[in-house]
Amino acid sequence: MTKTKIDPLKRVENDMKKCVKCGACRANCPAFSAFQREPAAARGKVALAQHVMKGTITLDDGTYAAMSKCLLCGSCVDKCPNQVPTDEIVIAAREALTQRRGLTTFHQAVGQVIKNRKLMHLGALAARVLGPLFFRKVPATSGLRLRFPMPFLGGSRHIPKIAAKSFISSHPEVVEGEPGKPRIVFFVGCMTNFVYTEIGESTLALFKHLGCTVIIPKDQQCCGLPGMSGGDLETVRSLAEKNLLALEQHRPDYVMTACATCGGALHRLYPLVIGKRNPELKERLQALADKTVDAAVLLQKLGLDPELTGGGESLRVTYHDPCHHRTAGVVKQPRTLLQGTSGIDLVEMEGADRCCGLGGTFNVYHYESSLKINEGKSAAIRATGADAVVTGCPGCIMQLSDGLKQAGDDTRVLHTVELLARNLRR
Ligand code: SF4
Ligand code: SF4
Repeated sequence: MTKTKIDPLKRVENDMKKCVKCGACRANCPAFSAFQREPAAARGKVALAQHVMKGTITLDDGTYAAMSKCLLCGSCVDKCPNQVPTDEIVIAAREALTQRRGLTTFHQAVGQVIKNRKLMHLGALAARVLGPLFFRKVPATSGLRLRFPMPFLGGSRHIPKIAAKSFISSHPEVVEGEPGKPRIVFFVGCMTNFVYTEIGESTLALFKHLGCTVIIPKDQQCCGLPGMSGGDLETVRSLAEKNLLALEQHRPDYVMTACATCGGALHRLYPLVIGKRNPELKERLQALADKTVDAAVLLQKLGLDPELTGGGESLRVTYHDPCHHRTAGVVKQPRTLLQGTSGIDLVEMEGADRCCGLGGTFNVYHYESSLKINEGKSAAIRATGADAVVTGCPGCIMQLSDGLKQAGDDTRVLHTVELLARNLRR
């Protein structure tokens, strides 16, 4: 047995002791439902992390693989009678394993790309130019389906198109609003910046309509969540510092994002991973977190009348709760806005708050299981008879689109702001 003393797990040592091994968390754990094995459940991962900390387990590929079987969805935390923060324990355990064994080649590459905005732009350009090679002769009706199998991407996966121009480079840094109205810094996020630019355009249109000054910092970076999935917390910390500098200098009233995952990073992850190592930085990150707000929540707070901005074609829609929204309490606000929009008929699906199966790089490492979790979501969407499923996270949009297309279903997948801005953008 390898005897180790690993610091990151010290952060959650007391939390781990709170687990009484009752197993209540298994019922709602999507990883357990996909793998049907104890190490995939929250209870199993807490026990594994305890062994890693005590040094009573060999840190081999199996340990690493077991700890990768978590979507960090937080469902187990909601159901746990002792509120054991299993997601935080898994984050700490992944960092501990990374310190011990180093990053995987895949996560080294991910870290290099997300830390370097120029590299990300180059990657987006390459994907846009080379994409047609991979999708050539694939019928349009099948969506953008990968033509050549790539083990790390999943051979039949549907991939969204890269935008011709990134959202941030399409706009000035400051879009002036009316005097006396809020100053909002828009944290755009990579998916909106490079792929789903229409989410950015709709968000901007809505806050301009409300008279707000919208600042879109040119030097904002990736939120770092893809790095966290692989235990690369040093990359997350360096991105947290860069984003802090990029956002706080504008002295905003609010830091707003239309991406549930980015919101989760700014709001919860950054102060958590800085921990006690730098109290001054932690305080500034906490101040940033306190100002961070989801677009739908802020639109409601600022009194958006969706009847004016979002009316139009009649659509029956259902709403999927992103995990980072559920854990942050962003549940009612998007629904209230959608219900106030003429033409929109909102119907609830079964298990609207169940994870879609994306889970950061879980979707890359465990694609078949991710798809299996997604199949349940697609079936629930289909059962509502909705024309479109609406959500508040570009990552969920990609995942839901993949699941629906794989099932041969042409239900549209939209972001809340796209429906709320229909009149403004028409
Ligand atoms: S994490 Fe919570 S719900 Fe799961 S076994 Fe431990 S105490 Fe029970
Ligand atoms: S965070 Fe989600 S996937 Fe991970 S153990 Fe908890 S319920 Fe399971």
